[in-house]
Amino acid sequence: MNTVTSIIDLQTTLNRWRAQGKSIGFVPTMGGLHKGHLSLIDIAKKNANKVVVSIFVNPTQFAAHEDFDTYPRTIDADLTTLSSSQTDLTFIPSASDIYPNDLAFNQDEFIHDKYLFEILCGKTRPHFFYGVLQVVRRLFDIVRPDIAVFGQKDYQQLHIIKRFTSGVKIIEAPIIRDSKGLAMSTRNQYLNENEHKIAPQLYKTLTKIAQEKLDKKSAIQQLQIHFKLDYLEILDANTLKQISNNTRKIAILCAVFLGSTRLIDNIIKG
Ligand code: AMP
Repeated sequence: MNTVTSIIDLQTTLNRWRAQGKSIGFVPTMGGLHKGHLSLIDIAKKNANKVVVSIFVNPTQFAAHEDFDTYPRTIDADLTTLSSSQTDLTFIPSASDIYPNDLAFNQDEFIHDKYLFEILCGKTRPHFFYGVLQVVRRLFDIVRPDIAVFGQKDYQQLHIIKRFTSGVKIIEAPIIRDSKGLAMSTRNQYLNENEHKIAPQLYKTLTKIAQEKLDKKSAIQQLQIHFKLDYLEILDANTLKQISNNTRKIAILCAVFLGSTRLIDNIIKG
């Protein structure tokens, strides 16, 4: 596996592969890699000849009060992990290469189409999905992959990327969980021992809703025993709007705070 930091070096390799007729699969990450990320890489390799993984902690998706400075940066461990994965090339760009001019993102395009940016996680993190879309579009422009893999774990993000990017086939990867059911996340590193014991209650509650053993009101009460609730919503999984007669798949989506750590999880039932 090769590692590059400059766009020129990246594109030299990509151009060589393209000239050989190879297809390019792309897995964007912020590092702090875990088995969830590795599952995306496996899926990318099944759908493309070469796999590029990027590691970039994107400043534009963090608000000033959020954890940009303390977000786990574990490059050495990540490179060791990637070297025994299906990754062919790791791209670790600098912020000045990703944003050569400034960090501003023109949101005029979404002025009549803000719904997906403002619901669920967008209520608590109004800046977040604009920052995500900005960096994904920029990375797509640089890498120009044939396919890119994103996790169902970040379901709203996946929706926004599918809707507001073009030219790249987006593949959805299932949620990877630990043995207790907690969805893997880089931010799980923030949890202390006691919080680690509590955190799996989130998935347990969502599972009971999916099994129709718990209605929304009782689920909220149960979650509030363990967590500070951000939201629990049961929506149409295809539109992220209220369930209607046309709904074929439902999304049970939740975000909670456990201490100062925000956890998100979901179950899609179709
Ligand atoms: P991140 O590094 O957190 O930005 O995540 C990079 C990609 O990994 C995103 O597409 C996430 O949805 C995906 N991802 C994160 N956690 C998981 C997980 N537990 N299972 C599957 N995919 C995940």
